[in-house]
Amino acid sequence: MPQAHGQLRYRGRCADCSWVGRPFIRYGTADAAARDHSDAHQHTAFVVDQYEMRIVGSTIRPASARQA
Ligand SMILES: [Zn+2]
Repeated sequence: MPQAHGQLRYRGRCADCSWVGRPFIRYGTADAAARDHSDAHQHTAFVVDQYEMRIVGSTIRPASARQA
């Protein structure tokens, strides 16, 4: 794969489907995208870095699974 990532180092991923978010420079933006996916599809999403390593603590569970 060509080194075209630049500084786009964070992206959302989904544990329940093959969704991959757009890459973002900021963790918070990728986290927000993952949260949107989790809410929209009731899936467990998380954020990975440019090496596809899951960011510790980034797991987002569907709203329905959260404590009220
Ligand atoms: Zn999904």
